[in-house]
Amino acid sequence: MKAVIFKETGKYAVVEKPVPEIKKANELLVKVEACSICGSDMHILSDPPGYPAKPGTTIGHEMVGTIVGMGSEVTAFAVGDRIVCDNNIPCGQCYYCRSGHANMCEHVRCLGVNGDGFFAQYALIPDTSAYAISPDLPLDIAIFAEPLNCVMGAMDKLRMIPGETVVVVGAGPIGLYFIQLLKKNGAGTVIAAEPSEFRRRMAKEVGADIVVSPAEAEKLPQIAAVGADIVVDAVGICIKDALDWVRSSGRVLLFGQNFARTQEICQSVITRKELTVTGSYIGSYSWHDTIRLLEHDPMQLEKMITHRLTLEDFAVGYDAMKDGSALEVILYPNGGRC
Ligand SMILES: [Zn+2]
Ligand SMILES: [Zn+2]
Repeated sequence: MKAVIFKETGKYAVVEKPVPEIKKANELLVKVEACSICGSDMHILSDPPGYPAKPGTTIGHEMVGTIVGMGSEVTAFAVGDRIVCDNNIPCGQCYYCRSGHANMCEHVRCLGVNGDGFFAQYALIPDTSAYAISPDLPLDIAIFAEPLNCVMGAMDKLRMIPGETVVVVGAGPIGLYFIQLLKKNGAGTVIAAEPSEFRRRMAKEVGADIVVSPAEAEKLPQIAAVGADIVVDAVGICIKDALDWVRSSGRVLLFGQNFARTQEICQSVITRKELTVTGSYIGSYSWHDTIRLLEHDPMQLEKMITHRLTLEDFAVGYDAMKDGSALEVILYPNGGRC
């Protein structure tokens, strides 16, 4: 079968690999119908890498597939079921796994990073990581389950009240998911602060009420007068703006990540304004909610698809992600819509 592997620092390769064989009784062999390129895949392939992947590993962690084989102890699925997959496989044993925080697992294995992922025609996954989806859910909507699930986990932490004013900093894919979920949850005014004009346009298209460049944001009456009820940093380096733009006793949600960058802030702002600052990292418990949402309302997600490609054309999607002209790049390893 064809697969895209992490070759060495900064390099990938499209290679031939044997179709994986089921070795464990709880494994599913899945035919990958669609997979998509995530910002984390770009971090794996950057030099120096933002995530350290093992050379030879098949990358990719977002997918929709069909079960074509299964181990002897699988009971919850059948051959032919369509599934999506949580690629973060917790150990089930550590303190965090045993206390309801599996996303903090100390021994987590990540398919597509340190285990073979989904930029391939076939993949093996444990049954505990698979979630069945309706046969009617279109491929090009189901493919959003994994990244959207991470943002659903963050929405759960926000506990937003209808009518609130929210600033979303950054309108890349994650910011665009936030905008749609915030509107769906009854946000009064959603303001997207984003430097790229292309992404600002997209933010407006998926439902942001106001779109501005970050430099213009503080002049907006909604921010200049009292401040926003909530500021979401979807970039990972914008805590300073978030502290400035949020109102006293408001909430700041930090979602984006960038370990290569540090920020200097005055912590007394948090004290004096009595702010609640929350971090949110992936979402282990929102998969069922996310799938149910996608099955009931695909929102404006399809508008975010900029590329539909074969696996062999991975380079086209990779380059478009790199130069910022792509939002959602979908690959179809076994043919299909592209
Ligand atoms: Zn991802
Ligand atoms: Zn664990």
